[in-house]
Amino acid sequence: MKLSKKGRTRDELLAEMRGLQGRDADWRGGRMWSLVYFAGEDVADVLKEAYTTYFYTNALSPAAFPSVRKLESEVISMTAELLGSGDAVGNITSGGTESILMAIKTARERARAERPGLTEPEMVLPVTAHPAFEKGAHYFGVKPVHIPVSEDFRADVEAARAAVTDNTVLVVGSAPCYPYGVVDPIPELAALAQERGIGCHVDACVGGFFLPFMRRLGYDVPPFDFSVPGVTSISADLHKYGYAARGSSTVLYRDKEIRRHQFFTYADWPGGLYGSPTMAGSRPGAMVAAAWAVLNYLGEDGYLRLVGMVMETARALMDGINAIPALRVIGKPDMSLFSYTSDSVDIYAVADAMDARGWHLDRQQLPAKLHLVVTPAHKEIVGPFLADLEAATRSVVSEGPTAGGSAAMYGMLGTLPDRGAVHKVIQDFLDRMSQPAEDQVSGLPGGSEKP
Ligand SMILES: *Cc1c(COP(=O)(O)O)cnc(C)c1O
Repeated sequence: MKLSKKGRTRDELLAEMRGLQGRDADWRGGRMWSLVYFAGEDVADVLKEAYTTYFYTNALSPAAFPSVRKLESEVISMTAELLGSGDAVGNITSGGTESILMAIKTARERARAERPGLTEPEMVLPVTAHPAFEKGAHYFGVKPVHIPVSEDFRADVEAARAAVTDNTVLVVGSAPCYPYGVVDPIPELAALAQERGIGCHVDACVGGFFLPFMRRLGYDVPPFDFSVPGVTSISADLHKYGYAARGSSTVLYRDKEIRRHQFFTYADWPGGLYGSPTMAGSRPGAMVAAAWAVLNYLGEDGYLRLVGMVMETARALMDGINAIPALRVIGKPDMSLFSYTSDSVDIYAVADAMDARGWHLDRQQLPAKLHLVVTPAHKEIVGPFLADLEAATRSVVSEGPTAGGSAAMYGMLGTLPDRGAVHKVIQDFLDRMSQPAEDQVSGLPGGSEKP
């Protein structure tokens, strides 16, 4: 497509865009299980109004936009209080990935400042940690040192202890990890980091705006926040269970001394003195305003109500899945995301049979499993979903995999010993998905279209 010679009308453009959306996944109807966190039309209206009110603002300059500065600092202080420390400091970023990148960069700079001989920084992380850590390791030249998880899918603390060396700058734990929805043993990991005088990052991207409210509702929530000694930074996504606009997260540090290492400054540019707190230069004030608005609109009661509702839905789904003879939920998930599999049927074939029934299920690998992130949009679909899942599973038991389904491909990619070949498959996928002409490929296990 080329830029049109003459501009087109607003009505025509909107009609075309709305028409295109007909092919997108039905998130509003609860037919998919990650990517969108929808808390209802009233919340959506508040977000949109806040967003458009601040549409043109640029958070790059707090001096020009003191209003954005005030909203951002209030979002951070509300988040800090939720995460166990009124004294923590932080910034809003574009998402969980940027928050994690910043935490890695900060830990590396801090260790370098304290240990001038450090040339080959390392980071110790469980295999279940989010790929954003691998991305950060890659971008910032920090070597990722992977540790296994125990039988309960939580980080193996003894393996972490054995993996820490004089080069380690950061120990990572998740609250909870995405694949299994369990919280790592944060007190033990943080103590280990503290003994060594290094950072401990808690990835609460998905749990940061959920676990604190679960605790207030009386659920058993493992310790994970700044109340745990040794935790130096936490990432918590506003655009997940904070229900803010897509493109907003927070990264928090225990104190200002640690956070200083996050900042980028440049003093010698003819364009002026330059300083930026996070990866981005220009930053939309709109997403800051939307985050501030939703936090204040929902308030503690609103989040408690939503968390209670999501937990009831998640428990009903887990019980329902466990009641299907061939299926089981994996481990003991701590909140509202979990994976499930089968010991007797090809779980990817079950996913294909569910696709045929109009659902979009997330495939995971190592081992083969399916995954759910439960949101308020799923409250109404528990019954129909479980009925379809039961029928889909039965159809695979009696008739085998659907012809033309993706089960064989997923199975092959998940078990191929040559992971280099799988990298190539992912690159080809990204290439195809960056082209306008779209084809039938629906996704990859743990692929780029996942959070
Ligand atoms: C979603 C998620 C991330 C990454 O967040 P993005 O906003 O997709 O960049 C990191 N960690 C966990 C545990 C997550 O669930």
